Amino acid sequence: MKNSIVITITASLMLATPLVSAEDTLPLNAVNRANEVIDAALEAYGGAEAISNLNSVARKSRFKTWATNQSLTPGAPWDENEQSNFVAIDFESKTFVGKNKGSGGGFDFDGSQIIKGEEGWQVSYRAGTVTPIAEPDFNTSSGPFIRVTAPLLVKQLQNRRQTSHWLGEVEFDGRPHDVITLVMEVGPALSLYFDKETHLLSRSERVLPPFGQVDYRFTNYETIDGIPFSKTFKLFVNDQPNIVIDVQSTVLNQSVEQYAAIPQNLEMVEVAPPQPTEVELQELKEGVFLVGAAGTYALFVEMDDHVIAIGGTAGIADRIKALREVVKDKPIKYGVMTHHHNDHVLGVPAYQAEDAVVLTVKENEAVMRAAATDADSLKLKFVEDKFVFDGGSHKLEIIDIGPTPHAEHLLIAWLPEEGILFEADHFPNPTNGVMQPAQPVTKHLAKMIDKLGLNVKTIVGAHSPRIASINDLRSSLALNPAKVAQVSP
Ligand SMILES: [Zn+2]
Repeated sequence: MKNSIVITITASLMLATPLVSAEDTLPLNAVNRANEVIDAALEAYGGAEAISNLNSVARKSRFKTWATNQSLTPGAPWDENEQSNFVAIDFESKTFVGKNKGSGGGFDFDGSQIIKGEEGWQVSYRAGTVTPIAEPDFNTSSGPFIRVTAPLLVKQLQNRRQTSHWLGEVEFDGRPHDVITLVMEVGPALSLYFDKETHLLSRSERVLPPFGQVDYRFTNYETIDGIPFSKTFKLFVNDQPNIVIDVQSTVLNQSVEQYAAIPQNLEMVEVAPPQPTEVELQELKEGVFLVGAAGTYALFVEMDDHVIAIGGTAGIADRIKALREVVKDKPIKYGVMTHHHNDHVLGVPAYQAEDAVVLTVKENEAVMRAAATDADSLKLKFVEDKFVFDGGSHKLEIIDIGPTPHAEHLLIAWLPEEGILFEADHFPNPTNGVMQPAQPVTKHLAKMIDKLGLNVKTIVGAHSPRIASINDLRSSLALNPAKVAQVSP
């Protein structure tokens, strides 16, 4: 057995050697230079042995975040929010614990994700619940933490050397850097900038559709147990600040078991069924359709000789296609945009392609035009407080319930005869129907329903296939955030 391995290795060496010396190709050079950069980085990060022995990290930090294209009003400066974060990772046992507490966009959150090998749970300290995760994945869950932790990226390079290419040498912050690639288990490739003198990681970049270019900066290095960690970190999206992390404590190679324990004092709830991946059409009432999949839904209302569409989230063209199987030939006359956030204006080109008029508020004109295929020819109509579609098979009211804790202007669709309300981002409606304590946005929506005297029977939304009743909204309002003791260093 041993002999055969030796023979195999020898044979492959004999094969490889003439090729290497035959031509020093660009790809070969890229691989060799990357290996040199990785070796130097391993040295700078405490040596290959220290990095391969780096099995667990527990870190506490403060995040400052910018709500890029997700603020109350369109355009910069973006709203700033703060949150506290705790992460514990253990590579050997494939354990990951990520806790976040903070608020932003009219939502309060206090929860954690626990992954232990093949099992996983979503813990909501706010709701006092534990929900099993349908398909837990250590690599997917731990990826964001690894990407902002320089020694863990170096550890990835050590293990995934074969994925790395040298891209070239560039000046960054007035210093020469080598740029090499890293392909992690999940997600698009990263390009890592190593300082040619210190061999420490200064920057990393990746292109992440639909957001664009994501740029990571590692600053303020401090050595912990012989390994340099950056104490501060900045993330830019398309050159605009998105996250600043201020690390408060870092503990290496200690057991993370205590953090990964499932809190016993919380209520275990049923796993939320995954969102359908194929586009589904649900007819809520005759001629009123909720169409969507994978967390993005639009409402279509069939009038006598046309259709009105509400919602601009991802995949509108596919949702129109699904509608066409039941409503064959009526043109879509209007596409109503609920608000200006970047994940809610993706449908503008699809409505423009249908030659529909996009309905929005005057303040969001620039965002709608920027989202269009052709800005100048986009047909727009502006809502002031309320716009009523009447005289067809349905009465449909578009009402601005802004300013809300989420957006300055927020359009909802209201069908008074059917008692159906369509909203975006104000009423979380989990697929398992387990209501959470009402968020500030939900309280605002409920207040406006009361104020406007809407006799709501059914609520559907831009992010859920579930048809909620007014009682779901009431039970959400009746729940109070839980107070639960938590373990963190
Ligand atoms: Zn939003």
